[in-house]
Amino acid sequence: MWYIIAITISGLGLILGIMSCFSGAPAKADPGNEEPDQKDDTIKKHLSRAELIAAMQALAEKKVPDKLSEGAMCYKVAMPPDRYEYVCPSCGHKTLYTDDLGYYLNRNLHQCRALVKNLTAVDARLDESSFCKKCSPDNKEKPSLCLITRCSDDENTYQSCQITDEDLVLLNEFFAGKVTHRDNTDYETPLKDELKRIASLLGITYPEK
Ligand SMILES: [Zn+2]
Repeated sequence: MWYIIAITISGLGLILGIMSCFSGAPAKADPGNEEPDQKDDTIKKHLSRAELIAAMQALAEKKVPDKLSEGAMCYKVAMPPDRYEYVCPSCGHKTLYTDDLGYYLNRNLHQCRALVKNLTAVDARLDESSFCKKCSPDNKEKPSLCLITRCSDDENTYQSCQITDEDLVLLNEFFAGKVTHRDNTDYETPLKDELKRIASLLGITYPEK
């Protein structure tokens, strides 16, 4: 319970921090206001492999605006703690992490769980099982969050591990038809620069050989 309150308070602090940054920044940097003529291009059906590749090619050819957001320069993020008690959603077993994995979980787990739910253009889920000592007692590899995806015309799933919330933000932006990527400081870069990463997360070689 207390950690929820702590997270809420720190989240609020973060938002207020960003707002205070923006209040002194040029008027254009308002993340809450999208351009009024921007329509919702989010892909709502599962795509085939060929359709995903076509969407990547379309993104590569899209024009990126000349002026991109430079983000909030005064943004400061508190380092998350490296202690995390992982509660397995499958079996309920608790596994305590007090090292870099605890830091990784604090930073990524909740965001990744939320972001994966928004992925609309492929069948997608998160595999967290390597973090549970009961579900994966013989795991020799370093635990990490894995993304499991499947295209609409594929029988097999594809697994990509060591993913972060930023990876899932990239996929969400790609499926939403965006041309730019915004990082957590609102710094904007052309989304096409991330096509290789987006493709590898989906098990696709891009550009095709
Ligand atoms: Zn478990």
